[in-house]
Amino acid sequence: MNQLLYQGKAKQLLATPDPQTIIVRFTDTVTALNGKKRATIPGKGALAAQISMRLFELLSTQNIPTHYIRQLDQQSFLAHKVQIIPLEVVVRHYATGSITKRLGIPKGRAFQPPLVEFFYKSDELGDPPLCEAHIYALGLATPHELAQIVSLAQRAAALLSDYVAQRDLKLVDMKFEFGRTAAGALLLADEISPDTMRLWDARTHESLDKDVFREDKGDLLRAYQEVARRLNLTRSLSASGEGQGEVEGQGEVGTGEVPSPFTERGRVR
Ligand code: 5GP
Repeated sequence: MNQLLYQGKAKQLLATPDPQTIIVRFTDTVTALNGKKRATIPGKGALAAQISMRLFELLSTQNIPTHYIRQLDQQSFLAHKVQIIPLEVVVRHYATGSITKRLGIPKGRAFQPPLVEFFYKSDELGDPPLCEAHIYALGLATPHELAQIVSLAQRAAALLSDYVAQRDLKLVDMKFEFGRTAAGALLLADEISPDTMRLWDARTHESLDKDVFREDKGDLLRAYQEVARRLNLTRSLSASGEGQGEVEGQGEVGTGEVPSPFTERGRVR
């Protein structure tokens, strides 16, 4: 039985026999507004997991160090264990969401070069924006680490944007999280899915991401299925929604109340 290390809003982290690795398991829960809005959508976990795995694999082939190791089942992957840095790195290609409200920038304006913003990953504080000096004052990263983080985030955003553009999708913005291994390596961690990024249909600008749920714009599962279809993931997802079983060779998932390493931005998005 794999011990539950963290129960997040949309994911669980489970222990493996190897203290250097963990299992990241995606659930069918979707939340918004700092957990105030919540639903269970069967099949959503498998879709977010498959999309995330594909995108981590893409980044790994391009020498972006990530925590992803390999798929375990439809909803889970094996990852390097990291200590998550409580810093959300948001890269924006087009204005929407919080930046339009915070700075009055019109929705849809392109950022060239892409805009990089930082937020403090803190449920209690509602994930406030941070400047570089705040990051050092809070001891979240050294200047050297922050330079590495920004460079990795910029490279990852460019690669992902190019990749989805070939599939008629616009990568509007995304949130990255980074962590440190016990050996001190900096890795891109968490997930890369429509839960953590905004994807628009390139032609119609229809949302194909969590905004569908945040803003009650329709059927979230259909939107994620459309992303999966465009990424050619449909075949591996033919059993989507049935992936509730045990993780390969790892036994049952444990239970228990543990603090969450994953946060939902507190402000209205
Ligand atoms: P915004 O700052 O406009 O609310 O979000 C910018 C981007 O980062 C969006 O793609 C959004 O999905 C993602 N993001 C920011 N904070 C969070 C968070 O706490 N949880 C999740 N799932 N995504 C976030």
